[in-house]
Amino acid sequence: MELISIIVPCYNEQEVLPLFYDEITKTMNKMRTDNPGLDFELLFINDGSKDSTLKLLRELSAKDECVRYISFSRNFGKEAGMFAGLENANGDYVVIMDADLQHPPEYIPEMYDYVKNKGYDCATTRRVNRKGESKIRSWFARKFYKIMNKISQTEIVDGAQDYRFMSRQMVDSILSMKEYNRFSKGIFSWVGFNTKYIEYENVERAAGTTAWSFWKLFLYSLDGITAFSTVPLALASILGIISCLISFIMIIFIIIKTLAFGEDVQGYPTIICAIFFIGGLQLFCMGILGQYLSKTYLESKRRPIYIVKETEKTPRNKYEEN
Ligand code: UDP
Ligand code: MG
Repeated sequence: MELISIIVPCYNEQEVLPLFYDEITKTMNKMRTDNPGLDFELLFINDGSKDSTLKLLRELSAKDECVRYISFSRNFGKEAGMFAGLENANGDYVVIMDADLQHPPEYIPEMYDYVKNKGYDCATTRRVNRKGESKIRSWFARKFYKIMNKISQTEIVDGAQDYRFMSRQMVDSILSMKEYNRFSKGIFSWVGFNTKYIEYENVERAAGTTAWSFWKLFLYSLDGITAFSTVPLALASILGIISCLISFIMIIFIIIKTLAFGEDVQGYPTIICAIFFIGGLQLFCMGILGQYLSKTYLESKRRPIYIVKETEKTPRNKYEEN
């Protein structure tokens, strides 16, 4: 007997959830007939949805015994959802996928084959295009991957997604990384192992709307940088050294100039420019230090990554009224 756990983080997905359930059930049934002895567990993580996602999950788990769910006490973010899923999955293999059908379930049999029979520890998809996404968003995304791969030892593949099929061994190593500021794309790559990338064309959301605004994605990308690179800290020192050098040259220049031509009250614009420039540099570098300090501060609090309010095992009467 082999068990595959499918982890699905959900945040306000009431529109797409029934569609997703139908699609994934088709795939699971097909795989069950093709591979006797294979079983599934569908583990939904309700990340504090404000719509009727939780109600749907209760219904699904009541009618289908392979459906489990974990419901958070509030919205903790997709990273926390994925972590909770990995921590609670029982499978020999674990799949992480989105609820909006942007990660087509048809790829699961192929991924299973790569991991089970072809010596890979992980199979994942890579978008070859960003069809249906705004131009500015794609541009920023591409730049992010470029910068990130320059300044970080951990390779982050452009277009790689959180749609993954992993062996138990890889899941356990991911779970051993208990950091609070989680950036999964980096974590998946940091733990190593053999990863197979399957290329596919971007698919648009089946229903509902994305929860990721441009601003949220931008902040997430900063998380990624601070979590997997300390180059910005070195950048602060380098900028400091450069401005020291410049000021040293300026000092010599001014001394010689004063000795040769005497002193008169001039150069007000130069001074103002220099003050603003150096002030700006200092604030910028302090900002970088602040970023790392704030991450360290959050890590040192050792807060839990998520808080569970309800699961499929919670007695019915406990939540009937809300
Ligand atoms: N999601 C989540 N918590 C959040 C935001 C999103 O669990 O705070 C889930 C969401 O339900 C979906 C997946 O993460 O299954 C990807 O989200 P979305 O489709 O909104 O992102 P996009 O595909 O636009 O990047
Ligand atoms: Mg999506």
